[in-house]
Amino acid sequence: MSENGKVYLIGAGPGDPGLVTVRARELLESADVIVYDYLANNKLLEWTRPDAEKVYVGKSAGRHSIPQDEIEEILVERAQKGLQVVRLKGGDPFVFGRGGEEVRELEMDQIPYEIVPGVTAALASAAYAGIPLSHRDYSSSITFLTGHENPEKHELHIDFRNYAKGKGTLCVYMGIGQLPRIVAELKEGGMNGTTPVGIIEWATLNRQRSVFGTIDSILSDLEASGIGAPAMVIIGEVVGKRAKTEWFEGRPLFGKRIVVPRARQQAGELTRMLEENGAEVIELPFIEIVPAFDAKLVSEIFAGIAVYEWIIFTSANGVRQFFELFYKAYEDIRCLGPMRVAAVGAATAREIEKHRIKVDLIPKKANADALAEELIEQEGLEGIQVLVVTGNLNREGLVNTLETEGRAIVDTLPLYATRKAKLAEDPVATDIRKRGADLVLFTSSSTVRSYVEQSKYLQAEPGASKAAYASIGPQTSKTLKENGLDIAFEASESSLDHYVKDTISFFKQTTDPKQH
Ligand code: SAH
Repeated sequence: MSENGKVYLIGAGPGDPGLVTVRARELLESADVIVYDYLANNKLLEWTRPDAEKVYVGKSAGRHSIPQDEIEEILVERAQKGLQVVRLKGGDPFVFGRGGEEVRELEMDQIPYEIVPGVTAALASAAYAGIPLSHRDYSSSITFLTGHENPEKHELHIDFRNYAKGKGTLCVYMGIGQLPRIVAELKEGGMNGTTPVGIIEWATLNRQRSVFGTIDSILSDLEASGIGAPAMVIIGEVVGKRAKTEWFEGRPLFGKRIVVPRARQQAGELTRMLEENGAEVIELPFIEIVPAFDAKLVSEIFAGIAVYEWIIFTSANGVRQFFELFYKAYEDIRCLGPMRVAAVGAATAREIEKHRIKVDLIPKKANADALAEELIEQEGLEGIQVLVVTGNLNREGLVNTLETEGRAIVDTLPLYATRKAKLAEDPVATDIRKRGADLVLFTSSSTVRSYVEQSKYLQAEPGASKAAYASIGPQTSKTLKENGLDIAFEASESSLDHYVKDTISFFKQTTDPKQH
């Protein structure tokens, strides 16, 4: 048994990744194992080490969640092996999250642990709906309650009549399924029918929705709104005192579903800008990256890795794939040897640095030609052995220059292939068909062509809203027209800034008042 294993019980917050603590992020980045249930936001997992083990213990289609004792066993077993284990839980681990049970189990097995609190749903929902939970004149207590709609939980039934009289604020977790009973008991207990109630669904995410009413009206208000779990029910006079400007739901693109077709793997600047304005962005990848390599070549190159003086990475994908294979073959990063490392650009370099390896050369211009030229000019490669880690596309130019102009001895290690995404099975495409979208933002002719080619997988089903099409510039517009697609608007200038501004004006002109 190793001495250094430890379990970190971490609050993942309510959904927006910006709301986890600095400590949580630090631990996610360094953990060996991450044990998580259903997460409001999978983006948190992108911070983890590429070789970290990720264990999903939540519910999935056709399967119940893993029983609590099995989860505890997973934590104990990994920690006893000496691993750093993160147990990630929505909101705060000690608020209706069974964190106490997990801690008790760890103590019984004498496993060291640490607890990192998270922003719990009640606080997040109140903040993002502008409701002050306490108020000098209206509420001087805040109560967290559970409606325990979840049949897997066996908590005691709460008698809400006991909470009907005070002047405090009630925050009900898991309350949607039992709302009729909760409302009835509060009234029986003497709560005034005019007491304000707010319900916030998916708080802090760009799909947040909320509905407000009173104890007397809330059941029908809720039904009319179509809001469901997960949602927070907040009851009390403070709900009536909420802020008038809706700082979160009131942002210009809030509630809009915008599709951004992508030609390449990386998540875009455009997405970030749209999200900042409140849009729910659906990135639609037309190209996917799949591992593709010759296992024999990989082991030959790994065995002789010490002969290379330079290793060149032409993409972040190549880096990820390389280290995944390397860690399978070797336990110690020093097996890489003292070679120097070049990356085609900043994104590739960041991926390398995740492995605590300093990048020796990044060209001023992020392309393969510039990389080859700078290497040759600054380093002189004559007679030197170089390894190029790459995909199946666009590598000939680089290798050629290194060999002919630089007179280096080059080995190429192709590790992945870029191919057309199969939208028929893609969950993103399914989501677009089922829930529809408001707008598709095309950023190039090639994405228009890919869209048209696969359009039968992207048609909104009856009842789902059909998206309008927008174009970033004249060339893209031309391709849209050639393919018979109507253009709702073209960006006034071909830049992302203008594209986003014009998107906001487009919705201002076309949209009706908010739907809830
Ligand atoms: N430990 C969690 C609570 C888990 S119980 C925490 O501290 O927040 C699950 C319930 O939390 C849901 O049924 C819902 O009532 C509430 N909840 C979790 N995330 C939410 C969100 N983003 N918006 C609204 N309610 C949320």
